[in-house]
Amino acid sequence: MEIRELTCINCPMGCRITVTMDGDSVVSVSGNTCMRGEVYARNEVTSPVRTVTTTIRVNGGSVDRVSCKTKEPVPKDKIFEVMDEINKTSCTAPVNIGDVLIEDVACTGIAVVATKVVLN
Ligand code: SF4
Repeated sequence: MEIRELTCINCPMGCRITVTMDGDSVVSVSGNTCMRGEVYARNEVTSPVRTVTTTIRVNGGSVDRVSCKTKEPVPKDKIFEVMDEINKTSCTAPVNIGDVLIEDVACTGIAVVATKVVLN
């Protein structure tokens, strides 16, 4: 049996969660205050994901960069590829909140969207 200790990142309580694994199988989850923590812990030990938040270069805008994020969490092991593609991408002003800046980042099937307005 393997014991994994995690901190739940779903709310400010930051519960310490203990997951007992038998190979790739989850045997038990404890320490979570609510079900969100159990779901998080099970996903974290089997297929961890993260929402990536960063900025993309803007051409012809009032500022040089616009904040953005992946529309949904991406697999944790794809984060470097996601960042690499974002760093090689630029968009053109004007940009509105929710505009799709990359449709399928790093072949994840997930879009990168703007989280700020940039005027030209
Ligand atoms: S287990 Fe529930 S209460 Fe605890 S940090 Fe996660 S979301 Fe918050």
